[in-house]
Parts: sequence; structure tokens; C-alpha cells
Amino acid sequence: MNINKKLIDFFLLIIGVSISSSILAQKTADPLKGKKVLFVYGGWEGHDPELTRDIFVPWMRSEGAEVTVCDNLDCYTDSALMNNMDLIVQTWTMGKISNEQEQGLLTAVKRGVGLAGWHGGLGDAFRNNVEYQFMVGGQWVAHPGGVIPYDVHIIDHKDKVTSGLKDFHMHSEQYYMHVDPNVKVLATTTFNGDHAWWIDGCVIPVVWKKMYGKGRVFYSSLGHVAKDFDVPEALEIMKRGIRWAAVSLYEEPEPWINPVYAD
Ligand SMILES: [Zn+2]
Repeated sequence: MNINKKLIDFFLLIIGVSISSSILAQKTADPLKGKKVLFVYGGWEGHDPELTRDIFVPWMRSEGAEVTVCDNLDCYTDSALMNNMDLIVQTWTMGKISNEQEQGLLTAVKRGVGLAGWHGGLGDAFRNNVEYQFMVGGQWVAHPGGVIPYDVHIIDHKDKVTSGLKDFHMHSEQYYMHVDPNVKVLATTTFNGDHAWWIDGCVIPVVWKKMYGKGRVFYSSLGHVAKDFDVPEALEIMKRGIRWAAVSLYEEPEPWINPVYAD
């Protein structure tokens, strides 16, 4: 009797372990599957909001996401919509956001909804809004020389977003950003003095991840125009970052604090 019970317990344990590992495998394999995504686009036209929408929205749908596309910031005030979302992807350069719109966005991310974006669409939006910048973890301030050749250096080879990727070359705007020195930086770029002699040798983050409350926040400064995503590494980094942020509500927050000025 006792032996039988032990055997049953053992088999139940095996079944339990295999079910949970298959759920885990599914989660890792298809993070966007069944996820509800709000894609918000607009702002300065020079950053190709429509063309980049046409890169990322079809791709997210092909990964199984249910994407709501929105061309205005009032979506952030629709609490029924926001409460239903898993991830927000925003490309909205400069422009102005009202208090109510900003609160809708901040509240959702703080509650655990993921946020992902690139270049000025996330890192140079709403210049007057410091709480928004606190959430993103950085703000664009200059791109000396405009569109120039530069290199992106992968500094984290273990993180899923950058693992297996090698350093690569861009011909675009090299974003000089003011970045929160506690975010987890995955890739950087080094400036030369060709266009601003005093920044020769300066190292600035290109890709980072962080949390805002319970929400995962992912940023890449690559993507001045849609064509920049023809660079396979630039596109791959953004896709992986979106996948990472998409499971914000479902996975444990990962360690992200990486202070630059700690001893
Ligand atoms: Zn730009």
C-alpha cells in the first residue's frame, strides 16, 4: 500500500515536472504568442513612423501577437484598452503629451505592462516630461555630424537580447544620449572627435533594459529611418528586446541594476 502510494507520488511528480518544463519551453519559444500589443506611432515624420510600423506590426502579428495600432496619444487615456495590454511599442518623436495621456502610459508600465521602442520614437519623445524620461532611462541630446559611419559594440554576450551577436557597423545617426547610469547596458558606441573634438573617445550606451515599477522597459537607439533596420543586427536586437518586454506581466523581473559609479 505504502509502496504503491510512493510510486503514484513519484509518477505525479514526473508528470508535474514535464508539464511545467513544457510550459516554460513554450514561454521561451514564443513570447509574443497571444500577447496583446499596443503599437503607437506618430510624431516627427523624419523618423519614418509609418514605414517602421510596417516593419514591426506585421512581424509581431506573425509571431502570434494581437496588435492594436494607434496613431494618436489618446489611446493612453483609454483605461479599458490599457488594462488589456501586455506590451506597448511606441514610435513618437518629439511632440507633446498631455498629463492625462502621460499618466495612462506611466500607470500601465508601472503596473507591469512592457514598453519597447527605438531611436527618437522612445528616446526623444515629450522633451518636457521628466517622469517619462525617468521611465525610459535616457534622453537623446545630440547626433554630432548627422548621418555618419559608426560601430556598435556588444558589451553583454550573456543577455538573451545580445547573445551570439558580434560588433557591427551602422551608417546613420550616432545617438549621444544622457543615460541613467544604473540601467543594464547591452551595447555601446564610441565617438570620435570628427564632429565635436571634445567628445573623442566618449562611450555612450546604444541598447539597454531596465524596469519602471513592475514593467520591463527596452530601448535601442538604432533606427533613425526604416532603412536602418536593413542592418540585420539592428533589426534582431529590436525584435529580441520586444520579445523580452512582451512577457513583463508573466515572468519574474530580472536583475537589471548595474550602477556605473559603484565601487
Ligand atoms: Zn534620427
